Amino acid sequence: MTTEHASATRGPVAAALGATVTASGATALPSTGAPASRTTTRPANDAPREGGLQDRFGRVATDLRVSVIDKCNLRCTYCMPADGMPWLPTSQLMSADEIRRIVRVAVHSLGAEELRITGGEPLVRKDLEHIIAGIRADNPDLPISMTTNAVGLDKRAQPLRDAGLTRLNVSLDTLHPETFAELTRRPHLDKVLAGLEAARAAGLGPIKINAVLLRGINDTEIVSLVDWAVTHGFEMRFIEDMPLDGDRSWTEGAVIPARDIRAEIETAFSLAPDPRGRGAAPAERWEVRRPGETAVAGHVGIISSVTEPFCAACTRTRVTADGRIRSCLFSHEETDLLTALRDGADDEGLAQIWRDAMWVKPRAHGSDRVGLARADFVQPQRTMSAIGG
Ligand code: SAM
Ligand code: SF4
Repeated sequence: MTTEHASATRGPVAAALGATVTASGATALPSTGAPASRTTTRPANDAPREGGLQDRFGRVATDLRVSVIDKCNLRCTYCMPADGMPWLPTSQLMSADEIRRIVRVAVHSLGAEELRITGGEPLVRKDLEHIIAGIRADNPDLPISMTTNAVGLDKRAQPLRDAGLTRLNVSLDTLHPETFAELTRRPHLDKVLAGLEAARAAGLGPIKINAVLLRGINDTEIVSLVDWAVTHGFEMRFIEDMPLDGDRSWTEGAVIPARDIRAEIETAFSLAPDPRGRGAAPAERWEVRRPGETAVAGHVGIISSVTEPFCAACTRTRVTADGRIRSCLFSHEETDLLTALRDGADDEGLAQIWRDAMWVKPRAHGSDRVGLARADFVQPQRTMSAIGG
């Protein structure tokens, strides 16, 4: 625990008066998974005292993302440094019971409608099945999905399904073993494909494939990834590279813009807007048809956080593996829910801390082109794997 974190520990009375808010430092600080350079105590704000997770701009967060661990067994270049990150000590990670409690508060007191388990790599947690079974017991109808790199999923897909997992997003950026090894710094493409097979056999679905496109690395695979996904019944989703990497080497020039991704897909398929619409989903969805065919062959989604941000429709609220609420991926502030929980806050106390945290969600994340052009754009100190993507 850093001294800042130690000083952030507060008693139940203080927790009832207002949450501990952590203000992240600027990019000039060394890149770490640690969240904070300083902490402040914010008095309760003018957030509503009841109901769901509203913010000042009329958005309501119903889509809960919980990171269960910051560690990972891959080292994707756009996410983590080659040597990994300074991992959280086990004592700072939420336990299975703490995760269960936090999800219960989100669903029962704050109206969360869906849950995504993420990380780091969730499969690195040996008690993942136990975590999901506990959440399922409290929330029989909650859609529970997971974002995973699928390494090791071949042995765990069925137990996870039995525990109550419903849907899966698998990250897979390339179908070439050499490119996979270059991009993830691990030679595990076979394991990912085996994991996907097992997930399908276990009846987990729908299965979406997430690919981050990097110029000069895997941008030549857009059409072949769509073809492969459509053939196998997966929904392919392309994600613009965001400035959340551990190496701090992101450049705008490496981003393949959504419009270029669409144009490339249309060299081989026809695309039509998905009539189901986008709703609050981060991906703009398209129906894919093969040339000369009228039947829909499959679907593709494009997540254009950098060039066509969708902040106005955002319904997400995030909890990091050490139990901090983040209202936005790009926040410089986070709110310590876990300490309040460990100090004995009751469900309503936790719910109010969460309402206060979401009330001050920024209007937009500032990593869009306009934001990047601003001299004062600052990357958040936490990187993607430490937040939970
Ligand atoms: N380890 C799991 C995985 O890779 O699916 C879950 C955690 S990972 C942080 C969640 C998602 O974030 C993945 O789909 C990954 O591709 C994406 N991601 C990581 N770094 C990113 C970045 N810099 N820009 C855009 N997406 C990123
Ligand atoms: Fe690990 Fe996922 Fe980050 Fe890749 S994207 S390093 S698999 S957390």
